[in-house]
Amino acid sequence: MLTYIVLLGPPGAGKGTQSKVLASELDVPHISSGDIFRDNIKNGTPLGKLAEAYISKGELVPDDLTIAMLRERFLQPDCKNGAILDGFPRTPVQADELEVLLNSFGGHVNLVLFITSPVNILIERLAGRWTCRAQGHIYHECFNPPKERGICDIDGSALFQRDDDKAETVLNRIEIYQTQTAPLIQYYDERGVLVRIDGDTSIKKVTEQLMSGLKC
Ligand code: AMP
Repeated sequence: MLTYIVLLGPPGAGKGTQSKVLASELDVPHISSGDIFRDNIKNGTPLGKLAEAYISKGELVPDDLTIAMLRERFLQPDCKNGAILDGFPRTPVQADELEVLLNSFGGHVNLVLFITSPVNILIERLAGRWTCRAQGHIYHECFNPPKERGICDIDGSALFQRDDDKAETVLNRIEIYQTQTAPLIQYYDERGVLVRIDGDTSIKKVTEQLMSGLKC
């Protein structure tokens, strides 16, 4: 069966951390639009240069660029049986396009796991977040520290703090989430695929809720 699962929620809700767990449980790729943008920025591609201006301010990259990037990712054969989508879609236009794209090879969005937390928790999580350079593994200096400071437990690469996790950018990202992305809650609720997950608890407990969500 084709299984396409969207993780929806504000920045800092835990989408990245939980997507990696789900992708490995279900043996499907984890597609993070933010990671693909960051790779493009790191490699100095034309897309990376265009996207950087938006990402550094915490704004959304325009829909046409983002959709084209995701379309290209979906050309790769590893996503033909399913995928965990993390950070995409972020607008109703992207959600419509995603449905068209998945329909083109017989799939559709099966489930949307909507994780949320109070704003003060989101800010605390983003401010203490460390990300691995090589593969985007995520840590938190208090809630999920690496065994060795500054080094990824999984692949040994250096950890860094994302520029867009700075306090002033974080507030902008949360506001943009509320105005541009939150309409997707109703969008997917109306389609009967939305499951609400309480993200204001430990990583393990959120994973347990997600696993129950998969049985819905
Ligand atoms: P993330 O790693 O998901 O927090 O994304 C980091 C940044 O990349 C976001 O703040 C946006 O600037 C950009 N971005 C990621 N995904 C999207 C998307 N689906 N649409 C527009 N911009 C995005």
